[in-house]
Amino acid sequence: MSVQDQLHRYLFENVAVRGELVNVSHTWQDIIRNHDYAEPVKTLLGELLVATSLLTATLKFDGDITVQLQGDGPLTLAVINGNNRQELRGVARVKEGAEIAPGSTLKEMTGNGYLVITITPEKGERYQGVVGLEADTLAGCLEDYFMRSEQLPTRLFIRTTEQGAAGILLQVLPAQETSQDDFNHLAMLTETVKAEELITLPANDVLWRLYHQEEATVYDPLPVMFKCTCSRQRCGEVLKTLPESEVDEILEEDGKIDMHCDYCGTHYVYDAVDIAAIRNESVSDSDQLH
Ligand SMILES: [Zn+2]
Repeated sequence: MSVQDQLHRYLFENVAVRGELVNVSHTWQDIIRNHDYAEPVKTLLGELLVATSLLTATLKFDGDITVQLQGDGPLTLAVINGNNRQELRGVARVKEGAEIAPGSTLKEMTGNGYLVITITPEKGERYQGVVGLEADTLAGCLEDYFMRSEQLPTRLFIRTTEQGAAGILLQVLPAQETSQDDFNHLAMLTETVKAEELITLPANDVLWRLYHQEEATVYDPLPVMFKCTCSRQRCGEVLKTLPESEVDEILEEDGKIDMHCDYCGTHYVYDAVDIAAIRNESVSDSDQLH
């Protein structure tokens, strides 16, 4: 099967509202494959993945977005990171010994929690927004975030099944007149989308079913995929920030340092010679500064 995850953008002709429709089913499977997550954690990561993909598609520059849930519940962290090329990765962490019961809600998993959205342009300053997890669903929390941070009416429709995850974003175009009624009308039409059709039907069929009475332009899709941005180089940079005595101690005991990427499971192994080379590098880097 050569099915690929895709993101479609569309624009309504007579109302200043834009839309995005994404299917991330394969990317989601890639992200959860090598982990032993409980069912509700898998679903939450799927929702977070849909949301992050839709958010990165709103970026007007090269860069990435991290959408992170943190709290004092059994699920301490769930995070998805994605860039404007729609390369996404993610991971979740559960408190040691904690169990997440089937059917757990967002609140039951995160406890008192908040949503942190970090936007990092390749050039320019990083922006971070935080909202409390007050709504019952992730989509609701993100809609709160958009109202507070960008003052743009935005609706997210996220659907997951055992087989897949997909979603739709509707947003009023900035600096244009859009009546609340027009926006609500489109939101009502979108709300009727069923998980099964959103996940299994071609995007154009779904859009036609939802909006056949409206005029909309649908643009060429972008592929969406799992890709981790870790590398031996980046890992080495992290190693440099650790206290040398600590690194030496592990080297003495184990003969090597094994750094493990939580996102993709890759191991980066360093022996004493590698470590010496990394330290040497940092010395010559600082030499160049003087
Ligand atoms: Zn990785």
